[in-house]
Amino acid sequence: MLEKFLQKNKIDFRRDFPLSVLTSMGVGGKAKWVIYPKTVAQLVKTIKFLTNDNKKFYLLGGGTNVIASDGGYSGAIVSTTKVSKIKRLFSTVLVTAGTPMPLLALNLQKWGLGGGEFACCIPGTVGGAVVGNSGCFSHSIADVVKRVWVFDGTKVRVLSKEQCLFDYRTSIFQVEKWVVLAVQLKLNKNDSAKIKQTMQSMKVQKARSQPTMLKSAGCIFRNGLVPSAKLIDNAHLKGYGINKVAVSHVHAGFIVNQGGAKASDVLDVISHVKNVVKEKYGVTLKEEVKILDD
Ligand SMILES: Cc1cc2nc3c(=O)[nH]c(=O)nc-3n(C[C@H](O)[C@H](O)[C@H](O)COP(=O)(O)OP(=O)(O)OC[C@H]3O[C@@H](n4cnc5c(N)ncnc54)[C@H](O)[C@@H]3O)c2cc1C
Repeated sequence: MLEKFLQKNKIDFRRDFPLSVLTSMGVGGKAKWVIYPKTVAQLVKTIKFLTNDNKKFYLLGGGTNVIASDGGYSGAIVSTTKVSKIKRLFSTVLVTAGTPMPLLALNLQKWGLGGGEFACCIPGTVGGAVVGNSGCFSHSIADVVKRVWVFDGTKVRVLSKEQCLFDYRTSIFQVEKWVVLAVQLKLNKNDSAKIKQTMQSMKVQKARSQPTMLKSAGCIFRNGLVPSAKLIDNAHLKGYGINKVAVSHVHAGFIVNQGGAKASDVLDVISHVKNVVKEKYGVTLKEEVKILDD
């Protein structure tokens, strides 16, 4: 049924595809289906079909904030990575969900549009960034969002920035399971060379403070009053590991895959870190990353 629908609509797909390839942590079993719509129309059509057919599905952007379990996923992964388009209109930009944040940054720099410089340091897609209100250097995507187009399973809706309920690393999209289709961003005219310089200095800072050579899912935990990395570091957990997984020596908020890791080891390291921090400081760390399992 699903295969027929995809073939009829010329939508790319893979069967039994490893989630370790689709996620930056590089762990996880196989997904029964991985679907690659190429346009917003194909994305909507796919979600409509899966919803009407009562088929389990999971939206995946760059997979940079997701840990996939070893057991894999028996439903359909809908990857947005091919739904990638950017259009400029004066100082606003219309960008589809699957556009990589670094590609967005490159275009903003080229067009002399400031306010979104931090995008150069966020791996993953614009859709993923909107869902998690991602950001760094005291900026986040909420600063520049004007409108968001979503599909709620039945119809396309347009949400104003206020309706997105953005807050620290969260948005309404973490509650309502809507599909982010596209986003309109409002930026400020600025000098292209200046933007480039800001981006370069941001990249240098990130390269110094993050384990860029190893696979990871970014910061595992949300920050509270005290940054989670500080608590983990103070608890002497840097370097703590199980098999091929360890708390990064470079940044205590990162858990790294040292090659051939298993999701179960990542989850065990997470659990150990939470237990130790709770015991030592009475703080319950909350995961920022999403766990994808059946
Ligand atoms: C090395 C490294 C550095 C990082 N640095 C930062 C940083 O500085 N700041 C920061 O905030 N984050 C950082 N991250 C985390 C991550 O890159 C961000 O959270 C990013 O915005 C996730 O985007 P994604 O496309 O990869 O989302 P995914 O990981 O694919 O998905 C994340 C969540 O969003 C959902 N989702 C994705 N796309 C859609 C859509 N179109 N519609 C509805 N739901 C969707 C998924 O179902 C999932 O629940 C880092 C990660 C890595 C690996």
